[in-house]
Formats: sequence, C-alpha cells, structure tokens
Amino acid sequence: MTPIMRKLVKGFNDFRARYFNERQDLYTRLVRHGQKPKVAVIACADSRVDPAIVLQVEPGDIFAIRNVANLIPPYDDGDGEAYHGTSAAIEFAVTKLGVEHLVVFGHAYCAGIQNMIDTQEGAKTSGRFVNSWTSIAARAYTRAKKEFPEAKGEDLARCCEKNAVLVSLENLKTFPFIQDGLKAGTLEIHGWYLNIAEGELSSFDEKDGIYKPINGTLD
Ligand SMILES: [Zn+2]
Repeated sequence: MTPIMRKLVKGFNDFRARYFNERQDLYTRLVRHGQKPKVAVIACADSRVDPAIVLQVEPGDIFAIRNVANLIPPYDDGDGEAYHGTSAAIEFAVTKLGVEHLVVFGHAYCAGIQNMIDTQEGAKTSGRFVNSWTSIAARAYTRAKKEFPEAKGEDLARCCEKNAVLVSLENLKTFPFIQDGLKAGTLEIHGWYLNIAEGELSSFDEKDGIYKPINGTLD
C-alpha cells in the first residue's frame, strides 16, 4: 500500500476509534431520523478548502456540494436529459432536505477560476470538460476587467474569484424553487470568500455591494 493510501486507511481507523465511538449518539440519531442539515455549502473541490474542516462542523450540519471553482450554472429548462450534477444536488438540498441557507463558498488561489481567466485571454488549454464548466464564470472576468482595466495576475485572479461567487448567486436566483424559497422567506443565499493565504473569511454584503470580514465577528 502506498503511503497516501495507508494514510487514508489509518485516518478512518482513527475516526472510528475516536470520533465514531465517542459520537455514537449523534450517528444513531442521524441514521434513525435521517439527515436534516439547515445549510448547503457549494464549495470548490480544491483540497485546501474542505468546508467541514474550515467551518468546524459535525456530521449532519452541512450538505456539501463540491465542484470545480464552486460554480452554479444557470437554471436549464431543457428536457431534463442532461447530467446536471450541481443543479441536482441544489434541487435535492432545497426541495427534499429543506435547507434554510445556501452558501456559495469561494476561495483565493482557485485553479478553476485561473483556468477561466486563461481561456478568456486566449490560452489554448486542453481538457474535454473543464473549459466549458469554468466558462460559467466568464461574466466575472468581463466585470473585473471593466472595474479594473489594468488588473492582471494575482489582482485579476482575486477579483475574478470574488466576482464568480456573485455570478453563482445570480444563477441561483434563476432556479424556480429558489425564487419560491426567497419569496416565502424560507431560504437565504450567501456569498462567502475564503482567503487561504491569510486564513480570512468574508461575506458579500448585498446592501453595500462589498465583501465584509466574518472572522472575529463572534469573538
Ligand atoms: Zn477552487
């Protein structure tokens, strides 16, 4: 067994010996009554931004949806034949689990957003699926360049990452069951951004149109 696979197995053994045995009550309840998370988090598949670790939650707390660059495509009212993994997970979270909050969990140094930027700037990148998927965030590039025409490199990337969260929030609002939840007041949507270099989390304030720090606000 390779060292990394050994690490995974050992990790599970540790989890079983400590966490699982100590929290039998929690697991028994979650199995008997099912999961009832109040929050769905749409995070990037990036190995550095696991929402359960970053937000220090327990099993049953969050319904985690992860994909490349934490993107949400617009609602597709086609024939329902396409394989919409992210849209299916959001539909399940809202209409079956009845989550009360959807959090789009963006992050700094996102390779998916960088791929979108490179593609927008004419780079020929290979891959069958990634370019098409990250093009969901193309609007973020257009806006970033409009706001800061001279921006490039790291500055442009950070700006696009933050704008891409807003694009996903806009796309969320195109789903009929989300429009219904927002109208009824049973659902709230949030745009968060994690800077993994600084260990800082901020939330988009729709009224003021800016991201505001969350970390430290409950200390
Ligand atoms: Zn990412």
